[in-house]
Amino acid sequence: KYDDKEYITDIELIKENIKIKNKFSFKSDFGKVAIFAGSRGFTGAAYIATQAAVKSGSGLTTLISDSYVQNIASQKLCEAMTLDIDEDEKVKKLIKGCDAIGFGCGMGDNEVTYNKLEYVLKNTTCTIIIDADGLNILKQKKELLENNPDRIIITPHLGEMARLTGYPIDYIRDNKVDVAKEFAKKYKLIVLLKGYETVITDGEYTYINPTGNAAMANGGMGDTLLGIITSFVGQGMTNLMATVCGAYIHGYIGDTLSKKLYTVNATDIISSIPKIIKFFQ
Ligand code: AMP
Ligand code: MG
Repeated sequence: KYDDKEYITDIELIKENIKIKNKFSFKSDFGKVAIFAGSRGFTGAAYIATQAAVKSGSGLTTLISDSYVQNIASQKLCEAMTLDIDEDEKVKKLIKGCDAIGFGCGMGDNEVTYNKLEYVLKNTTCTIIIDADGLNILKQKKELLENNPDRIIITPHLGEMARLTGYPIDYIRDNKVDVAKEFAKKYKLIVLLKGYETVITDGEYTYINPTGNAAMANGGMGDTLLGIITSFVGQGMTNLMATVCGAYIHGYIGDTLSKKLYTVNATDIISSIPKIIKFFQ
């Protein structure tokens, strides 16, 4: 604990938040989530984010993507469902029933992604976790943030935060807590600012994440984190605790694996998620 409302996340906090499975539980007790991700050339992002949600314990998970990605990813996603993003009525019905939605990994920084994000925010009331290309859109459309207080979690790395705020990367790196808090307060959302000692804040309470390491610095790692956080929100954790616990567990798995692996990749993390969550239960 640094001061009044700044903490270093510790194991006890994680243990308090991991759900004990009641013997009468149904899949509906573990949340229905959707992941909007992927585009041609970024099929892996869609697979990784979706499978991370499945392995984190979501009751029902659906990948929503263009049909090109859907056709490929559905061959690997045995447990998750998939839906074509252009099937408007089905998409609307599905997202209205969701407990949490992850948005943005590998979708492309373009008009289609922007329109979909606006559509999702308009047609739902649940929490939306926004990463990658979803963030690139927010930088031009701040009104999407202003109109949706207390239901958005953003997960930028330093470069994405620089684009969102207009601050230089070096300044953000040297002032991570202040920059994240300022943005969280201004737009009434949760900021997870990635990297060594990831910062998570709602503008009032701030958590510094002590897990994670440089063996995790490779493509797909952020998509994994999005899937885990989306799943935790869907399972009923508060937005702040889902983000804090997601970052901790993601980094903890990376730390455990890096003792024996030179590089830790997204698929390595994914296979270890259930074992490590069980350890914290
Ligand atoms: P992204 O840049 O979106 O792929 O996300 C990378 C993920 O890996 C984030 O969760 C980072 O916090 C984590 N990560 C990458 N490099 C490091 C590092 N040097 N130390 C700790 N975590 C890292
Ligand atoms: Mg990323």
